[in-house]
Order: sequence, then structure tokens, then C-alpha cells
Amino acid sequence: MTANTDIQYLKGVGEKRAEILKSKGIDTVGALLRFYPRKYLDWTKTTTVMAAPYYENVCVKAKIVTPIETFETRNKVMIYKFIAEDESGKFYVSLFNQYFLANKLRCDREYLFYGKFDGSFVIKQMNSPLIQEVGYNLIEPIYPESRNMSSKAIQKLVKTALEKVEMPEVLPEEIRRKNGLCDIKYALWNIHFPKTKESFERAKRRLVFEELFCLQVALTVIKLKTHKQSGCVIEKDVLNEFLKYLPFEPTNAQKRVIQECLLDMRSGKPMSRLVQGDVGSGKTVVAAALCYSAAKNGYQSALMAPTEILAEQHFETFKNITANTNVRCGLLTGSMTKKQKSVVKEQLKNGEIDVVVGTHALIVNDVEFDNLGLVITDEQHRFGAAQRGKLENKGLNPHKLVMSATPIPQTLSYILFGDLDISVIDEYPKGRQKIDTYSVDSSYRTRIYNYIKKFLGEGRQGYIVCPLVSENEELDIKSAKEYYENLAKGEFSGYSLGLLHGKMSPKEKDAVMRKFANGEIQLLIATTVIEVGIDVPNAVIMVIENAERFGLSQLHQLRGRIGRGQYKSDCILISDSQSDDTKKRLEVIKTCADGFKIADYDLALRGPGDFLGNRQSGIPQMKIADLFADKQVLIDARTQAQKLLEQDPQLKAPENAGLRQEVIELYKKLK
Ligand code: ADP
Ligand code: MG
Repeated sequence: MTANTDIQYLKGVGEKRAEILKSKGIDTVGALLRFYPRKYLDWTKTTTVMAAPYYENVCVKAKIVTPIETFETRNKVMIYKFIAEDESGKFYVSLFNQYFLANKLRCDREYLFYGKFDGSFVIKQMNSPLIQEVGYNLIEPIYPESRNMSSKAIQKLVKTALEKVEMPEVLPEEIRRKNGLCDIKYALWNIHFPKTKESFERAKRRLVFEELFCLQVALTVIKLKTHKQSGCVIEKDVLNEFLKYLPFEPTNAQKRVIQECLLDMRSGKPMSRLVQGDVGSGKTVVAAALCYSAAKNGYQSALMAPTEILAEQHFETFKNITANTNVRCGLLTGSMTKKQKSVVKEQLKNGEIDVVVGTHALIVNDVEFDNLGLVITDEQHRFGAAQRGKLENKGLNPHKLVMSATPIPQTLSYILFGDLDISVIDEYPKGRQKIDTYSVDSSYRTRIYNYIKKFLGEGRQGYIVCPLVSENEELDIKSAKEYYENLAKGEFSGYSLGLLHGKMSPKEKDAVMRKFANGEIQLLIATTVIEVGIDVPNAVIMVIENAERFGLSQLHQLRGRIGRGQYKSDCILISDSQSDDTKKRLEVIKTCADGFKIADYDLALRGPGDFLGNRQSGIPQMKIADLFADKQVLIDARTQAQKLLEQDPQLKAPENAGLRQEVIELYKKLK
């Protein structure tokens, strides 16, 4: 029997159980051993009745001192009741319908009781504790149960598997030695059946490292593979020329990132890079510099944006910068007429357009390029990997750049974008307006409206953000529609208001955004759809209702819509939530303007779900590693993974054989 043996052939597993296990993703004996316990019951540490806290799981050793009395309730529930005591005190025990257990227990004998003490009676009470004979000296693993398979059943199978199967070692000895990690056999035995707390910790440390290390090796293999293909060479350096056409001096961070990209594009290998920069850090200029360089080297570029209005904004920016050059820009979006589109397509095919900016319209089948050398996707998390791939396939190994304003904690980007190189724009353009953020409760609402009116009166614009479209009284969420109508008829009658929500068609949304961008709408009532990088420098105030409902990163993204011009801007968070957690979170957003730090808080407070949801790809779920708590391990694992692949890119060395197998499996899942 090996790790790859079908689970069906393990002793104790029949056809039926095999089916249940397979539905949990446990196909092989090896997979069963990688099905780690959800938690543990520690029977090895007992406390006295007197010292035991209420409402927490404890284990006490006590003697049953009364006969076991049996009652039947009107609903036919059998209750077994008795008193147990140790030298420090006594307590009642009630068992419900547990006939077999009750029948085994004997008065005057000692047992171990595992459960929670209820404090609502004079004498302590424990309902339905787990009971074991004295001497049961185990840290007992508890597995995720299902109706047709108990934790105990899984526990038994795991034990059989541990006895029958020699699991291959995936971590090379050198790596283990350097990091002081135990071997696989010890790790698996002690993650399932730890002898002591310490042996559990050792096992866990090794398995966490292993999980992160293998993933990093797999992602790095993918990256190296991209680097091995040949890409077009953007050799001629025209950066200084480009900078002359810019209306401002780029920040040092912008310059650095542009250089990093140009170096990639010069290398002869296709670039495959992520540019991360907080909202307003100036990513568009980086894109423009690269497109310009590609054009001057005879290659076409395509920039794909998630919305029409964003595409148009980028197009305008590009056109302005290249106005006095021979670089030809084009726009391709879905709402253009058939005729307009076909003209642009013709020009792309003939090489008469150097830089095309567009939306999804770019990936339609009949869009062809003469010589596509660079593909950029803006706000890439809005696109699926497949959509990006479609655009990339229109050229021959073009350079690819993805730009994201979603600040992702560094550790997470190692997981999410481990196959990309990463550049970070960590500096804002000079003279950027500070945004003051306040948080208030709803009793301030009228005052806030008056504050907004003051700005509108000065010719400025603003946003009000509400969480959901449909009324849901239970959660006390303001419906955007109703909210809008109330304001339009009431407080803000006489002002020009707009409504934007997620259930509108892209066309409708674009129409509203356009009106807002050119000033026809003064105050925009919106759900979170305004998140994506629209640039309206005249908007200076943002009010966010039910602020407690948003993730911190999301609040930060929203806030990034203001403070984009010459005017000082204010963000006001309204929340009536009294919870300490909310207060803490809103305090973070009030005092911190750094998107990456905020993202880190988010990760700590809410877990990685919010971030992982952003990328539609097969990043495997972590079995044991915690992306926040195990941050440092991840960083170490990454460095060591890279080093190992430098020494043995194919993982051909005998000591890397186990790792190689594991990585091949992972690779299949990631691709
Ligand atoms: P984002 O990173 O959010 O996409 P943008 O590229 O839209 O940011 O830039 C935000 C604003 O800052 C734009 O109006 C842009 O013209 C301006 N900007 C970008 N870089 C600089 C700079 N180095 N100096 C001054 N203004 C800049
Ligand atoms: Mg942008």
C-alpha cells in the first residue's frame, strides 16, 4: 500500500465509505493522511472541579458518588443524572439519550469528564460530557464530521493508514536540517495523534512550512517557465524622450517601476509583471511609458480596462501625452458603432495603430494585430485569467503587465501572484490632497448634508455610498434607490443627483459616470460600483453610510475616489454600530492612509477570503498554513524555494525526488 493507493483499499473502507471520503476530496490513502484534524481534545491535562472555569472545555478526573438516576421527559428524551466529585468539589452530570454510555458507568469509580461547566446552578453542572476511563491519556483528534461519517470513524481509518503506509518525504533533507523541521513520518503521526503539546507543535511547524514551500516551488516553476520563452526585445531606450511629453515630473517610485519593466522588456524574455500601486499613485503613466517604448521599437500595445469610461479616460491621457509624437493611439469599446469599430480593427491589423486602449471589445475574435508586443490589463482583478489570456494570445509571447490598485498584503501576493514579478509604486505624486476621514453616528446626518451642500455650492462634487440596492429592514441598510429618491425629493431637491448601482447595465452605468465626470451630476448616490479607478478631480466629499458593513480595504478604495485634484477632500463614515470591533476598524481607516497597511489589518481581522476572492484562479486552499499568522514562514519558504530552483531547476537531484512529485501534482492544479 502506498500514498497513491485508492482509498477504497484501506482496511475498514468499503465501497460506501470510499464514496463518502471521495466526496470530501479524499481519493487516496495519502490524501487521508493529509486530512488534518480540525481541533483536538486534550485528555492529558486535567483540572480540579473547583479551579475549572465556566463555559470552557475542561477535563476533570472525578468519582461518581451517586447511583445513576434515569428520567424520561414528555418528549421521550431519556436523561441520566448523577453526581461526581473530586477532592475539590462536586458537580452534576446529565446525559441525554446516551444509553450505552450510561449503562457502562459505575458508581464509586473514577472517570475523566471532558466538557463545559454550566454556571447557572448552585452546584456546577456538566451536560453531555465526553467520558473516558482513567488512563485515557490522549490528545484526541477531531475531524470535520458529516452525518454519515463520524470523527471517531475517520480517526480509526487514519490510524490504520498511518500504520500501513510509508509516506514519501517531500522536503529535501537539507531544507529540513536548515529549518529544524521533523521528518514526514513524525509529522503525520503527531498531527493526528500528538503525544504531547510540544510534539504537536513540531509536527504543525513542519507541515505549515511544507505546504507553503511546495506552493512556492510550484509557482516559481511556472514563473521560470514563462521566463524561458523568448519575447520581443524592446531595445531602444526612449524613456527620456517620453518624459519630455509628460506634463509633470514622475515620482521616484514611478521611475523605478518603469525601469523595472523596461529591463524585463529588453531581456529577450516575455515580461510577466504585476504593478501594485494604491489608488492615485499614478499607474497610468507607467502604462503609457511602456506603450510608448514599445511603439518606438516597432511593436503594438494593448491596454484593457474594465469599463468604457475608464478606457476612454486612459485613451484621452495617452492621446494627450503622444499628441506631438508619431505614436498613433486608438480606442475600441463595445458601444462604438459597427463602422467605427471596423475602422479601428482594420488599422490594428495593418499596424496603423500603435497603442490601442479598450474594454472587453479587445478580446473579440475578429480583433487582430499586426505585431502585438505588450499587453496591459488595468484593475486586473476585474478580469478572469482566461480573458487576459485571450488578449495575450493575439500576439506572440507578448510582454504582459497587470496593474492593480487593490493593495494586497505582501505575503498574500506571494500566494496570489507568485507566478508574476511584482513592482510596487509606494509613493504618491507631490501635492496630492490629504483626505480627512471622520466617523460619526447617524444623528449627524443633517449636518453632514449641509456640509455637502456647502461644497456643491462652491462648484465641487461629491459621493454618497450606500451598501445595497434592495431594502432590507432587518439589517437596517439604506437602499440606494430609496435613499436617492428621498434625497432628490427632500434634502437635495434643486440639486442635480445621480444614481449608480450594481444592477444597472454597463451602458447605463457608463452614462451616469460620464455625466458625473463632466459635471452634469453634482452628487452621486452609489453602491460600491464606483470602486474602480475613475478620476474626477472635482469630487471632494464622500459620505459612506453603514460603514461597518465594508471591509477596510474596500473603504480605502472608495475613499480613493476623492482627493484627486487641487482641493482638500473629506471622507465621512456613518455608522451606528456599537461593537468594539467596528470601532477599532473605523479607527484604522481614520488614522491610516496607507493601503498596504490597511490591507494587512484587513487580513488580520477578516482573513484572506476578501483577497482570495479577487482572483479567479485555482489557488489551492491552505490545509494548515494561516496566511496571516504564518507570514514569516511564507517569506522564508519563498526565499528557499527560489534558491533551491536556482541550484536544481528541474528538481532532478535524487534528494529532490519527493518534492518533484508533489510539485508536479500542484502544478496540474495551478495551471
Ligand atoms: P491610479 O494609480 O489610481 O491609476 P492615475 O494614473 O489615475 O492613478 O493617476 C492619478 C492622478 O495623478 C492623475 O490625474 C494623474 O494625471 C496624476 N499623476 C500621476 N502621476 C503624477 C505625477 N508624477 N505628478 C503629478 N501628478 C501625477
Ligand atoms: Mg488607474
